[in-house]
Amino acid sequence: MSGSEDDFLETLQQCFGYRLGQLTLTAPRRAFPVSLIRADRMQSGRAVIIGNAVHQLHPVAGQGFNLGLRDVVQLADMLLKQHGQGEDIGSATFLNDYVKTREQDHRQTITFTDTLVKLFSNDSLALAAARNIGLAALDHVPAAKTILSRHAMGLAQRLPNFGNRPQRDN
Ligand SMILES: Cc1cc2nc3c(=O)[nH]c(=O)nc-3n(C[C@H](O)[C@H](O)[C@H](O)COP(=O)(O)OP(=O)(O)OC[C@H]3O[C@@H](n4cnc5c(N)ncnc54)[C@H](O)[C@@H]3O)c2cc1C
Repeated sequence: MSGSEDDFLETLQQCFGYRLGQLTLTAPRRAFPVSLIRADRMQSGRAVIIGNAVHQLHPVAGQGFNLGLRDVVQLADMLLKQHGQGEDIGSATFLNDYVKTREQDHRQTITFTDTLVKLFSNDSLALAAARNIGLAALDHVPAAKTILSRHAMGLAQRLPNFGNRPQRDN
């Protein structure tokens, strides 16, 4: 931010390459602090909020978008079932049920990303040594890497099954 716009563009172009052609600025640059932001609640009246509107995570380990997609899948699955049974898709009880099904995933993913940031942004030598040992161990134990990857991809938990749902006539 302290350099000129031309210097910024040149550095960005060098880092990114020409995959998108010549980069230009379409608006003045702005700086945003990258931080964890959570909405106080997911539901109000007949509305629920999902994705980044409810959880803005640290951009580490590719978790934010995946978590948002799991919100979408869960909500779509529940909406289809509720509608298929002819029930109100905006009722407080129904939306509250959706909120309850998502809370654990939100809590775990937020704790995971927040802990990673705290662990890797700390200058303590002891922590640095522990980090290096942990990363080296992951590299040498493929099974541990697989387990961590499955958790990071959201595949370790049960995802909604879209098959065999009741149908409505109208
Ligand atoms: C630097 C960075 C790196 C990231 N890297 C990764 C990654 O590698 N993997 C990963 O999984 N996630 C990553 N994320 C997180 C990911 O980008 C978000 O989780 C994801 O984009 C959230 O999608 P969303 O649709 O919920 O919200 P958004 O992408 O924020 O989309 C919301 C949209 O709504 C529009 N909007 C807002 N208000 C209004 C309004 N009033 N009227 C109309 N439109 C409106 C906005 O313009 C925006 O287009 C990263 C995030 C950052 C900041």
